[in-house]
Amino acid sequence: MKTSRRTFLMTSVGVASTFALGSRVAFADAPKVDENDPTAQALGYKADASKVDKAKYAKYAAGQDCGNCQFYQGKPTDAFAPCPMFSSKQVATKGWCSAYVKKA
Ligand code: SF4
Repeated sequence: MKTSRRTFLMTSVGVASTFALGSRVAFADAPKVDENDPTAQALGYKADASKVDKAKYAKYAAGQDCGNCQFYQGKPTDAFAPCPMFSSKQVATKGWCSAYVKKA
C-alpha cells in the first residue's frame, strides 16, 4: 500500500514537471511579433515603445511598455514574452501597443 502511494506521488510529480517544462519550452519557441504583421499594424505595436506614433496614439504615455502591461505573460526582466493580443506570439518587454492596460 505504502509503495503504491509513493509510486503514484513520484509519477504525479514527474508528470507535473514535464508539463511545466513543456510549457516553458513552448513559450521560448513562440515566434516574435513582427511590427509589419497586420495585427501589429492595427494595434500600433512597436518593439521599442519610444518609437510609438504619438500623434496617432495619444493615449501612449512615457513609461508604458509591455513589461508593465496586464496582458504581458512574462516577468518584467524577460526580454520577450507571449501576449494574448497576438495569439500568444512573443512581444518585447520594451514594446507597446494600443491595447495596453497598466498592470494593477
Ligand atoms: Fe504589449 Fe500589452 Fe500590447 Fe500585449 S497588449 S503588446 S503586452 S502593450
